[in-house]
Amino acid sequence: MEINSAKYLISNVDVKACPKPDKPEFAFIGRSNVGKSSLINMLTNNGKLAKTSGSPGKTQHINHFLINHDWYLVDLPGYGYAKVSRNQRKEFGKMISAYLQERENLMCVFVLIDSRLKPQEIDLDFLRQLGEWGIPFNVVFTKADKNTQSETAKNAKNFIHKMKEEWEYIPRSFITSSVKYLGRKDMLHYIGELIDQYYNGDDEGA
Ligand code: GDP
Repeated sequence: MEINSAKYLISNVDVKACPKPDKPEFAFIGRSNVGKSSLINMLTNNGKLAKTSGSPGKTQHINHFLINHDWYLVDLPGYGYAKVSRNQRKEFGKMISAYLQERENLMCVFVLIDSRLKPQEIDLDFLRQLGEWGIPFNVVFTKADKNTQSETAKNAKNFIHKMKEEWEYIPRSFITSSVKYLGRKDMLHYIGELIDQYYNGDDEGA
């Protein structure tokens, strides 16, 4: 799939105010600073679609973008941002959990993991929660250019290994770099396949 158009639609804090769920939707989430905005900009080939770093205030909403007039890309607030109050964090938690559980057109959540780090409990906790809610997700390792290829591969493998301790089925993961445009083609191809399934039904082998 290529991206021909990407348009900002709406930011809000209430799942009920999100656009009508009449198109397949893909959400992006991860710890603050994981590289989410950069990844969204890289995927959509638009340097400014999602705001990049520095101002967490702007990223505490559910942000909807319309892509190619036929699917929604959603930029969710980063979790684990140290500088917000416990109360604010609780509100984010409520907002995100309502969004994730109520959004019927959600095809999958891309959970972003910093490829430079050892497996972090906060990320594993979030995946556990998605599992409990039965929400499909894929793991996206970010900032792969910041390390050697073998170091990145090792960290990704460690993370998957950690997941295998509690998951029977490990969904597909992607290794990305927004600087090098790494992983873009694979992710867009994957999204394209799910969009086809949404509009045409799963005709693989049918
Ligand atoms: P967000 O808070 O998750 O949206 O993260 P941002 O996209 O704002 O990125 C946080 C910081 O990491 C910024 O300084 C980005 O320039 C940097 N960054 C993000 N992605 C990459 C990447 O793939 N490679 C490198 N080298 N830096 C990145």
